[in-house]
Amino acid sequence: MYPWIYTRAKEQPDDLALITDNERLTWSALYTKAHELASSWAPLLSRGDRIALYGPSSSSYIIAVHAAQLLELTIVPINIRLSQAEVHMQLQQADIRFVISDRPIDAPVKRLPFHVVKPAPDVLVRHMPKHYIQSMLFTSGTTGRPKAVEQTMLNHFSSAMNAARHTGSYPDDRFLVVTPLFHMSGLAVVYRSVIYGVPLILEPHFSPNKTITWIQTEHITHISLVSVMLDRLLEAGLRRFDLRVVLTGGGPVPLPILTRALDRGIPVMQTYGMTETASQVATLLPEEAIRKIGSAGKAIAPTEIRINRYQEIEVKGPTVMNGYFANPEATAAAFTADGYLKTGDLGRIDADGYLYVLDRRSDLIISGGENIYPAEVEAALLSISGITEAGVVGRFDPVWGQVPVAFIVSTLSETDVRQEMERLLAKYKCPVSYFYRDTLPRNANGKLIRRQLKESL
Ligand code: AMP
Ligand code: MG
Ligand code: MG
Repeated sequence: MYPWIYTRAKEQPDDLALITDNERLTWSALYTKAHELASSWAPLLSRGDRIALYGPSSSSYIIAVHAAQLLELTIVPINIRLSQAEVHMQLQQADIRFVISDRPIDAPVKRLPFHVVKPAPDVLVRHMPKHYIQSMLFTSGTTGRPKAVEQTMLNHFSSAMNAARHTGSYPDDRFLVVTPLFHMSGLAVVYRSVIYGVPLILEPHFSPNKTITWIQTEHITHISLVSVMLDRLLEAGLRRFDLRVVLTGGGPVPLPILTRALDRGIPVMQTYGMTETASQVATLLPEEAIRKIGSAGKAIAPTEIRINRYQEIEVKGPTVMNGYFANPEATAAAFTADGYLKTGDLGRIDADGYLYVLDRRSDLIISGGENIYPAEVEAALLSISGITEAGVVGRFDPVWGQVPVAFIVSTLSETDVRQEMERLLAKYKCPVSYFYRDTLPRNANGKLIRRQLKESL
């Protein structure tokens, strides 16, 4: 394979590639910029070097992603919401010497800006080895310390091709990215856009109104969201417009939110995936959305999914990582003897082959021998109007082993919430304590960080 941006510029030079608030670039313009940037880096960096990308979503960020591929570098996108100490730790963990950044950084690394500083002679474009490690992304670390996942060019390519077959891919598709580029959901779309040759519309700050405006004026067909974003978009009046694929993943989407979206004809597709699998491994198609509501769909061929005897989801396929960077113990622990990735998530597969993700294995609450899935309790809480956010974790209990407790953002009284919950769920699943909060801890992608709730108990 040639670098994707090179192929795109040759095949569709004048087609639109990238749209931001103040720019509209064609594939040929984007390629020229990426090539210039790669050339200016060439005297400093060589094949296989790891470079961190540290900055907000912008056209320069995307240019840097393509420039890195032209030089066969490994990009290590860093979450800009981390503290300086955490950034420092990740740079160390990924053994980084160069950081591409638009801001000062407090670490012993060399910093290069996102733009060309000193022009240099053009680098040659070469064929890429498909097992080249194109990116290292940190897992969101909602259950423990983030690990750096090695993702090959083939992982990303397979992910894009398999998804295209599963959800369909058309020349007039247009992708809107509102999730950060340093998480899988955002970065995957950058690669898909260049592999398919369809434009990417980039919005660095998620806001419901602005997102709806983009969807309407730019005839957006694809968008990836986490459930809190979908909820806010529905609140702000999202309609179908030209949307064809609304991927919702990263965590469970409570049924009331799904139903509201489907009622408006919005083609939501519940998706299951993770950084270790370079995005989706299963996606529920709209035509199955009602019949299989709550499911994350069927495995995206040729990826295979199975459930082990601990009810854990295991995955094997071309998008699955080789391992975690410089962490042979964690890598060995992540795979079964026959090469399946142990996801750490609990699930079940129904008779028709549809996957239902129950919860993370480490978040499962076992109370008096009964399994309680925090996601199920959170979904019940969120179905009560007057509760806008909910997080459920287990607390040690001398009698039951563990009991569920809830953190909520709500205007309702505790008595009212308790009454509603007892109507909705079995008694043993009902939280024994409620903690009222103004907000709940979430990562940059909007994913609930239950670990922090637990630590605050
Ligand atoms: P990340 O570390 O950001 O790659 O997050 C991947 C994790 O998000 C998975 O291992 C699951 O725990 C969770 N997740 C992703 N999709 C879903 C889904 N559809 N339902 C429930 N949990 C999900
Ligand atoms: Mg994980
Ligand atoms: Mg994710």
